[in-house]
Amino acid sequence: MPPRGSMITTQYKVQDVESCEDIGKGVFASRNFHAGEQVMAFAPEFALDQPEGSKISSIAIFEEFQKFDRATKDQYWDLREAENARYEIPDYTQELSSALDEDGKLLFPFHNTADGGRVAAIFHDNAFSFTQADGRNRKGIFIVASHFNHCCTPNVYYYWGQQHKKLTFRAMREITREDEFTISYIPLLQGAGKRRQTLMDRFAFTCNCKACKKNTNFANQSANRRKKLEELSIARTNPDHSSPLETYLSMVDLMNQEEILGWDDLGEVHKALAELYQAGSDHQAALKHTTHAAEIAHHCFGSKHPCAMAWKEKLLKAEASATEMNLGQ
Ligand SMILES: [Zn+2]
Repeated sequence: MPPRGSMITTQYKVQDVESCEDIGKGVFASRNFHAGEQVMAFAPEFALDQPEGSKISSIAIFEEFQKFDRATKDQYWDLREAENARYEIPDYTQELSSALDEDGKLLFPFHNTADGGRVAAIFHDNAFSFTQADGRNRKGIFIVASHFNHCCTPNVYYYWGQQHKKLTFRAMREITREDEFTISYIPLLQGAGKRRQTLMDRFAFTCNCKACKKNTNFANQSANRRKKLEELSIARTNPDHSSPLETYLSMVDLMNQEEILGWDDLGEVHKALAELYQAGSDHQAALKHTTHAAEIAHHCFGSKHPCAMAWKEKLLKAEASATEMNLGQ
């Protein structure tokens, strides 16, 4: 692997998105990837504890930023910042300009505190949240990963890898050389209007993916499918839910058409179906959905991850149960 932080590697390259103005940079595949292959994994440039119910202090962020070398600082400035969206830079500036040390002296007397405010704004706009093995909730800056753009049909899944302590990105489907890697910034099982609103409020951009592009065939059909998915995902949480099988089977069908392939969405639904069929002793159907769940876990987490290993085990058991049932007939 080339050194971390390098913007062109044998796996990926960070470059301008030419197909679309105002998006800035994106991350592109340097070669073909199979579903389930690791695209990249990073330890954070820095990470801070996320205090419950309050914002991370701008002072802590600024102190971490000051430890960067010149080149890393330049890369940090290069990150997109949705400054007109959810964050008020003057607030951060205020917090920094009035910060005092133990002796009552200004902590940042010589610094342009407007820059400090911007450092905090960039952090909040780009940091990834993750939970450590010890249960601590943290937010960290991963400079290269911050260049991943959003898509409502993302091709990359990411998670915090407890074993290696790295934010890990995997291809959820085949990705061709020069394709852009994309992740999702928001929950995907919601209608186009809600997605547009959330992306504008929180990240200050309009998504132009094939599910959002106006007046295309796919987008028109997608709008209905996502709306239906939103309704079904609410219905599934109702404890009096009368026909869970139908709900889950419709969800699988719709998610496949929408190319929503992540463990949290498609994986969870196959998991629920596998369990329902298992409970009803329909071993063939249980095997089918266990196979899908195991495959998605493998694609999203890789073969050595506890979730993927547990599903591999479940698959062996489901295969044995289905074989037994066949022999018994
Ligand atoms: Zn979109």
